[in-house]
Amino acid sequence: MTDLVKQWIRKDIRELSAYHVPSPGDMIKLDAMENPYSWPETMQQEWLAQLPDVAVNRYPDPAAETLTAQLEKVMDVPAGMSSILGNGSDELIQIICMALSSPDSVVMAPEPTFVMYRMIARFTNMGYQGIPLDEHFQLDMPVMSQAIEDHQPAVIFLAYPNNPTGNLFSEQDVRRIIERAPGLVVVDEAYHAFAGSSFMPMLSDYDNLLVMRTVSKMGLAGLRLGMLSGRSEWIAEFDKIRLPYNINVLTQFSADFALKHHDILDQQTAQICRDREILKDALSHIEGVLQYPSAANFILFKVDHHDSESIFAALKQGGVLIKRFADVSGPLANCLRVTVGTADENRIFIEALTKILQ
Ligand code: PMP
Repeated sequence: MTDLVKQWIRKDIRELSAYHVPSPGDMIKLDAMENPYSWPETMQQEWLAQLPDVAVNRYPDPAAETLTAQLEKVMDVPAGMSSILGNGSDELIQIICMALSSPDSVVMAPEPTFVMYRMIARFTNMGYQGIPLDEHFQLDMPVMSQAIEDHQPAVIFLAYPNNPTGNLFSEQDVRRIIERAPGLVVVDEAYHAFAGSSFMPMLSDYDNLLVMRTVSKMGLAGLRLGMLSGRSEWIAEFDKIRLPYNINVLTQFSADFALKHHDILDQQTAQICRDREILKDALSHIEGVLQYPSAANFILFKVDHHDSESIFAALKQGGVLIKRFADVSGPLANCLRVTVGTADENRIFIEALTKILQ
């Protein structure tokens, strides 16, 4: 068996370790940037009442046209631009890389950032260049410009706000990168709902800009739905690779339903933003904790003079799951990331952390 696997599975795949997502059990789950709120009872009932009409015996609308139009409206996609939907924005990253992959094509991203850019570049046989951010987790423009010059990337991914650092890059720097890039620049606005800043209105300014969004962080992570918007010339090419029916009937129906109640999701998002500020304030009062600025629904913090691994473990022991990082050296050394939960969850997390650091 092992020989067969060795014979046929690509060596670089065999050498990868699987993307590990810890099982939360009944812990307070502050590790994955989810919205902690469910829908109000009346909304749930309304949704349930309509579910029997969803034709699960039929294939879904292959291009999810109604949902695409609705998402474009909600996400303020400028007139004249096109969009493609993905089974989460992860799938859109994969589609982009599949379309651009050639023996010497390169994916570039500033680091630390969302690990899927690197992983999907690997899966799709592309080169990958991770360019270090500066000490404030901003784009290091001289280094970035030189790297663009040297590696001529087919695509640059810029998470805006960035994950796991939480900050927005300087808008001017991002514009300069778009202007200098020989290929595509994908501004990944997964955390847009919490940020109040977007490149969506700038789509028509640049031929090589695409903007990616997801509904995951605004309360619909379980539906797996992302959107990539930009000039139709690009989107039409990506659409050729998209598997037909990639957005299933239950997702199309439920997302459509939820977006009709957008005000509820907006209220939840606004609550998360208020709680983020309370959480920032609470963290600022814990000695030994250095937090980084966040425009997202999570906060990256460093536990100076402490070992982040043991703090992670102690929090877990106390029933609170946050995010630790595999790489304990480098810019994320001693860093942990906490997602903003409900006011109660945040309070329990702060109490536990305070106790551990005493
Ligand atoms: N982009 C960024 C920057 C992310 O942090 C994440 C999720 N952690 C994603 C994309 C993937 O989101 P989705 O749930 O839409 O696949």
